[in-house]
Amino acid sequence: MSIASVASPKISNPEMEEKVRGEITNLLYTYSRGIHLATLTAATLLAYVFYRVVGPETVLPWLGYVGMVELSRGFIARRFYHAHVAIEDAGRWLNLYLVGNVFSAIGWGAAGFILFPETSTIHQVLTAVVLVGVAAIAVPILSISFGSYVTFALIASGPVTVNLLWQGDQSSSIAGGICIVGISLLLAIAWRMHNDVVDALRARLAYADIAEEFDSEVTTRMHAEATLRKGEQRGRKQSYYLLDLAREESISQGDLPAALKVISEKASQAISCTRISIWFMEPDYAEFRCTHLYDNGYHDSAPGIVLQTGQNARFYRRFERMRTFAVVDTREDKRVGDFMQDYLYPYRVTSLLGAPIRVGGRVRGLIVHEHVGFPRQWSRDERMFASSLADFIALAVASSGRLQAQEQLRHLANYDKLTGLPNRAMFQDRISHAIQKSRRTGKGLALLFVDLDRFKNINDSLGHQTGDRVLRTIAKRLVRCVRGADTVARLGGDEFTVILDDLEDVDMITMVSDRILETVFEPIILSENEVNISCSIGVAHYPNDGDTPESLLQNADIAMYRAKEHGRNNYQFFTDDMHIKAMQHLARENELRKALQHGELSVHYQPQVDTSTGKTTGVEALVRWNHPDEGMLPPADFIPLAEETGLIGPLGEFVLREACAMAKSLQKSVDPGFHVAVNLSFGQFQMRNIPSLVKEVLKKTKLPAKTLMLEITESLAMTDAESNLQLLHEIKELGVKLVLDDFGTGNSSLSYLRKFPIDILKIDRAFIKDLETDQHDAAIARATIGLAKSLNLEIVAEGVETKYQYDWLRKENCTLMQGYYFSPAIPAEEIELWLQGKSESKKKKTKASKT
Ligand code: C2E
Ligand code: CA
Ligand code: CA
Repeated sequence: MSIASVASPKISNPEMEEKVRGEITNLLYTYSRGIHLATLTAATLLAYVFYRVVGPETVLPWLGYVGMVELSRGFIARRFYHAHVAIEDAGRWLNLYLVGNVFSAIGWGAAGFILFPETSTIHQVLTAVVLVGVAAIAVPILSISFGSYVTFALIASGPVTVNLLWQGDQSSSIAGGICIVGISLLLAIAWRMHNDVVDALRARLAYADIAEEFDSEVTTRMHAEATLRKGEQRGRKQSYYLLDLAREESISQGDLPAALKVISEKASQAISCTRISIWFMEPDYAEFRCTHLYDNGYHDSAPGIVLQTGQNARFYRRFERMRTFAVVDTREDKRVGDFMQDYLYPYRVTSLLGAPIRVGGRVRGLIVHEHVGFPRQWSRDERMFASSLADFIALAVASSGRLQAQEQLRHLANYDKLTGLPNRAMFQDRISHAIQKSRRTGKGLALLFVDLDRFKNINDSLGHQTGDRVLRTIAKRLVRCVRGADTVARLGGDEFTVILDDLEDVDMITMVSDRILETVFEPIILSENEVNISCSIGVAHYPNDGDTPESLLQNADIAMYRAKEHGRNNYQFFTDDMHIKAMQHLARENELRKALQHGELSVHYQPQVDTSTGKTTGVEALVRWNHPDEGMLPPADFIPLAEETGLIGPLGEFVLREACAMAKSLQKSVDPGFHVAVNLSFGQFQMRNIPSLVKEVLKKTKLPAKTLMLEITESLAMTDAESNLQLLHEIKELGVKLVLDDFGTGNSSLSYLRKFPIDILKIDRAFIKDLETDQHDAAIARATIGLAKSLNLEIVAEGVETKYQYDWLRKENCTLMQGYYFSPAIPAEEIELWLQGKSESKKKKTKASKT
């Protein structure tokens, strides 16, 4: 039983059959080696023996036939040995062998007639013995293919056996019978042998097959798994990187520096190289410029490495045909000769993998993966990845080029060529946007139409070139007059427009207009001439003077003509209403200036009471404006104006001097420890000379520094915290006390609160006001008192108006108070009276002052 058939008895296995056939063919030819020559020799001997008996005319043709057949078979066998026969071709060779075998058998069979003399029984028996002997010799060879053996044996020995039996005599019949028995025996032996051989063959082949299968399966699988694992990991990583790059915006949007950063990082990670360099070159390859270097995690976007190439351009043109070029050992590779001295050697690059960057079909640069250390090989994957990276760089280069072109086109379409300012088209766009924005934010917008006065004269007298230079100068000056976000455009000729948006109030318009008039009027120095030119400005306001770009522009233009009528070098508002407001503002500013000079300002004082003793310990100075027409004005009406115009400086100084002098006089007459608190505003603080002013005033009024308190607000303390801190310390060093006013209304950072050299905290009136009704406010007030105590600060409650508030604060241990409950701010001359009268009847006074 064959192993193959044990394993699968019912299943035919054509592959195995083919192999068996192949093996049989192989064995037949191998065993037949030399047999043809032996056969020929035997036939010659036989012919010699029978030469005289049957005569040459019979023997020689027979010998000739046998000789031809055996020589042919010998020739075919030789061919078989020398040919490398494929297994599929074995069938053809087997058939060839079998055909030869039949011819050979026919030869021997013929001998049974031809070499069978009627007369000599001894020769007849000899022939029979020889032929049966031939059949016997053929057993070990031909039994391999049982069919061929049967054919051979029957054809070769059949005729002689028939001939013997045909003779009729006893001895011949016995000889014929022996022949039949002998041949039958041989056939039986051949059959057995055949089966054994085939079984052995099958078994061998099956083992070989299984072994081979096993062997190759194991090694292939191991190998495949290893490569797969490696390849998969690398491949997966690389394809992720490529996917990342495909999504990278800097590449698609042509932000080249950012793109090179990302790409070089990915290159370094994917190909595990610590250094990646990216180079660009001119079309003639004369120079390579390193545009980006990524080295050990650091980017250098301007490495400033330029390599001159000595080799002729033809060499570099080879890049055109390469996807990548890998150099295993830079010292051995002649191609990199140009870079050896200047780059590869000093940077100790041993191996490199470069990929040309192709833009628009031409090589424009290279991305080079540089390896330091032992020379290394570059795999196919790595080369492919490098080439993809080069493609991404090319993409970024192409997009940046496209971007630049678009940008250029956009610029040409939207900007004025002469001055570089936005042109009329761009202006239309900007004003539409500004209007939409104003609509959203509710803030105002102004359009200024600026027209140069008598510009035609300059053009006519000094020529167009000079005219152009003047226009360029004016354009630059206009830009300087506005905030960065504002638009200055040139509509054409000598007409300019300015868009001011996000307007808080109309002052901004007058301020900018004034500035423009002034700046334009400055002399323009040209090489030979000095030109003086003025301008006229018309102002239209959104929404007052129009709500479309067209109506605003038209009205600003009308206003500009009015400015020309008013003698040029001035500005006019389109509507009187706006004009009036702007004028009022201007008038107010002048009034305040005069008020300071004419003594219309005065200082009132509000007492601050220590409720634990009932004693008034000091006052807060609060400024008032006794306006000739409008009566007494509160600070809210003029402090912001004073801040805007810078008048806060002299105003604040006035209050400080008044307050200090008054406190000193009260200290002399009433209480030596009496203090005064003066408010400092943001504007004053910005003037930065506060410490020296305070010092000078204290010295002049001889007021002890510790009785002066300066009140600053939270927001003031917080803005520009660090540099204000410095100023506060300088003030503190004078011995003055600092009060943090309106505490809780700004957005103080508690950490800053610790840092600031504050002595006193003032809880804002906002939290005191609703103590009775608002639990939330009460909680804040309580927390603030707690906070002040924990920071070791004194605390003052301001705006105390009711008994409830008073009691509540007392209960919370906040004893210093100020407010209408005690007294409003009163004029200086009343304060001494108030202090004296207070001890008599506090309540009566408080009631009187509240009304
Ligand atoms: P402030 O420093 O918070 O001053 C307290 C304000 O609350 C004063 O208003 C005062 O009259 C008012 N007030 C006091 N007690 C009560 C009360 O019980 N109920 C109510 N409803 N109000 C009370 P005033 O005088 O109108 O001053 C307003 C702000 O103007 C001051 O707020 C201060 O920030 C500023 N200011 C006043 N004088 C000067 C000054 O000389 N220089 C500077 N830079 N700012 C000043
Ligand atoms: Ca205050
Ligand atoms: Ca306050």
